[in-house]
Amino acid sequence: MSEKDKRFPLPLASVVDSPSRASRAQPSSVIKVATPQTATRNAALNQQHNQARTAALADIPGRALPKTGSASAQSSIRQDVSRASESVRHAMAARIAKQGVRDAKVLAAMQTVPRHMFIEQGLSSQAYIDASLPIGHHQTISQPYIVARMIEVMRDNANAGKLDRVLEIGTGCGYQAAVLSLVAKEVYSIERIKPLHELAKSNLRPLRIANIRLHYGDGMLGLPQAAPFDGIILAAAGLEVPPALLEQLCIGGRLVAPVGDRHQVLQLIERIGKFEWTNTTLEACHFVPLRPGIV
Ligand code: SAH
Repeated sequence: MSEKDKRFPLPLASVVDSPSRASRAQPSSVIKVATPQTATRNAALNQQHNQARTAALADIPGRALPKTGSASAQSSIRQDVSRASESVRHAMAARIAKQGVRDAKVLAAMQTVPRHMFIEQGLSSQAYIDASLPIGHHQTISQPYIVARMIEVMRDNANAGKLDRVLEIGTGCGYQAAVLSLVAKEVYSIERIKPLHELAKSNLRPLRIANIRLHYGDGMLGLPQAAPFDGIILAAAGLEVPPALLEQLCIGGRLVAPVGDRHQVLQLIERIGKFEWTNTTLEACHFVPLRPGIV
């Protein structure tokens, strides 16, 4: 990890010329499917993967570069791989922008968080492709596009994107929590599988992010002690959104969740009054299932 990468949150750099205003959610009649990966795109990405692999090997803490030559040669290699890592993240954010995410703050956050640090070493060459990847215990790290898309929709609130307190259900390896930490003042994240809760803690520790609170528990119950939340994101799909989560949303707050079984859609729920919520269906998606209880 370079000196620059050690500082976290890293300075946010804008990656596209689009305006910082978050785009309005699509009406429910428009159902889009996230672009599937194609062989052509994979081929085009190969070069980036190779760069990512080199960068990942150097950026993973405690992982020394091969001893080839002098200290200054090694330091120059480190600078090169750090730049390579930044450039693949830049390419990933640009790709997400092409897929339709317009919120510059979200794109900048995607460009900043080192996704390869949340993935086991054997898969780190694939860290910046647009796919979900296994993280153990039959769970996955979410596809970068959908991470960005959900955060963009959550930020597109009546408060010009201001988020004091957000809740994530399904910490997994901790990646989305790290992205959220760059767009919200306080991030709470719940995971029901103990070893994954521990994995997220150890993935996030080297990044020293001060505004994330990880909880081990059943996210279907939410986190009443920290509620209400300006935004809630579910990273796992249930047949319906748990009622406790609707209750823990601020008035004006936005909840974004995949809903369904085999056929899933991304839903936006906005609380517009004490007893009133609106529901908009955004696009098709694919997530691991939301399950009750803890393991
Ligand atoms: N946020 C992750 C995605 C993790 S995958 C990322 O950054 O990529 C979804 C996670 O939701 C899994 O780890 C799964 O164990 C968890 N999950 C499923 N049901 C849950 C529940 N009721 N409470 C908390 N976590 C849950």
